[in-house]
Amino acid sequence: RAKKSGPGTIAFFEASDDKSARDRRALQRDLERAIDANELFLVYQPFLDIRTGRITGFEALLRWQHPERGLIPPTVFIPIAEESGVIHQLGEWVIRQACATLSRWPDRIRIAVNFSAVQFQNVGILQTIVQALTAANVSPHRLEIEITESMLISKYGSAPAILNSLIELGVTVALDDFGTGFSSLTYLRKVPFSRIKIDQSFIRDMLTQPDCAAIVKSVIGLAQDLQIGVVAEGVETADQLEYLRQTSCDEVQGYLIGRPMSASEISALFDRSSRQSVHAA
Ligand code: C2E
Ligand code: MG
Ligand code: MG
Ligand code: MG
Repeated sequence: RAKKSGPGTIAFFEASDDKSARDRRALQRDLERAIDANELFLVYQPFLDIRTGRITGFEALLRWQHPERGLIPPTVFIPIAEESGVIHQLGEWVIRQACATLSRWPDRIRIAVNFSAVQFQNVGILQTIVQALTAANVSPHRLEIEITESMLISKYGSAPAILNSLIELGVTVALDDFGTGFSSLTYLRKVPFSRIKIDQSFIRDMLTQPDCAAIVKSVIGLAQDLQIGVVAEGVETADQLEYLRQTSCDEVQGYLIGRPMSASEISALFDRSSRQSVHAA
């Protein structure tokens, strides 16, 4: 494309374009063996129920420890995985890991996993989820799937059908990053979501921008009227938490509540608190 546009400064862009394309291809290749090489791992970030003050579950977030490049965030490698199709294997790995982790944690705890739109092009995903739950002997209601609005566009025609089948099985579905996509309200009618997650951009600005506060309040009200749960993402300050308490938000997630942690760190916390409650009893 740059070649056709002629000589001059364009050549500079062409060179850097080539470099980033080469970079992507290299990462794509590396990603193909990352699962077998044990370079992927999940970290878990807690959800806090504002009313009870208890942890209700965790969101599983994928990480890639690259042997040369160090820790690569999902915002970098997920799009590459989607492009190459490796996302199907990654997604299945995430599901199996999350279910195995659930089997070691208390029954009242749920785990939410993020799904990419392309994963819905593979109808076998349903069977994968059922198998993972069965293998780990975990009740389906403890597993939540997080999807974004963009997944429900017509390009992924089978998404609503697959989601509805999952819901029939007892798996719950949350609408992630709510407010950042298009036509959110239409999708609320296509899939019986259990929860809406208000995008962190709204939470960040709600105490300084009145229009943002209005949006947050309306989404909480909407969720209540629809009788579904509502989670605020990206809560970082005590003032934000207090505001969300006053506006009757159900759950919060963010650095104030807890950073993403390893499964073993969280298991240790559960072990400690169960020993404490045994002593208290
Ligand atoms: P997301 O699902 O909306 O996850 C929330 C992101 O916000 C996470 O970034 C989390 O670490 C970050 N976060 C949490 N609390 C705070 C806070 O208080 N302040 C700020 N500034 N950020 C906070 P992360 O882990 O880098 O993930 C980014 C995105 O990558 C996720 O957004 C999700 O869309 C995607 N992702 C992560 N894991 C997976 C996966 O296993 N599969 C797929 N398909 N996507 C994934
Ligand atoms: Mg999410
Ligand atoms: Mg989100
Ligand atoms: Mg996001």
